[in-house]
Amino acid sequence: MRIAVLDIDGTMIPGSLGLGLLDRLRSWGLGAPEHIDAIFAEIRRQRGGVISYNDMVAETTRRFAAAIRGIPTSTVAEVAAEVWSGRRGALFPFVRPMVEMIRARGLRPVIVSSSPREIVRCLAAELGVGDAAGSIFGVEDGVYTGTCELMPGRPQGKMAALRRLLGVDALAGAVDLAGSMALGNALSDACVLEVVGTPIAFEPVPELRALAISRGWMISDRARLLDDLDDVLA
Ligand SMILES: [Mg+2]
Repeated sequence: MRIAVLDIDGTMIPGSLGLGLLDRLRSWGLGAPEHIDAIFAEIRRQRGGVISYNDMVAETTRRFAAAIRGIPTSTVAEVAAEVWSGRRGALFPFVRPMVEMIRARGLRPVIVSSSPREIVRCLAAELGVGDAAGSIFGVEDGVYTGTCELMPGRPQGKMAALRRLLGVDALAGAVDLAGSMALGNALSDACVLEVVGTPIAFEPVPELRALAISRGWMISDRARLLDDLDDVLA
């Protein structure tokens, strides 16, 4: 099996669906505002170079879980659907033809995002992609418990999400990694870009751009991506 591992935030759509969800929860009077505010503050601190990417992910994950603790999953699903209906028009125009091209070249599209699975599901359903993973927050009796079970943004987190999604202990053996591709814009994508035969850094953040240059990975953008894929996907 050859796969195409696709990031969402900053790759298929500008910004972050997860942060959009958080913003909407707050405006609906849901979620703990002190935790929600802290998440946006941590992200600003990381962008300003005050804290590392990994520290930002660790802290925002903890805060996200705390922010939604006690909210019914059905409510978050409802808010996610609302956020998605407002954001779906912002999908980059290349996304649908990209998914078609990936399939036509014999690869299986697999979406892996750090945004919560509740909103990742909305995008995946719209694109007709059955394999999609997002962050997973703990649930008991239909209510969030304040824990996080899976955060793809953590170091090696996207690899863990892929193994869980595909139901394998190791990707090698289950997946033709040399024949596979990955597309992402952030440091959390690096662990997947490292292991596939066709890694593509998409409009990468400075840290990923530097890594892509040092590793010789292709760097693409919204204007060139379909042409680049046409060239590199055999
Ligand atoms: Mg991204």
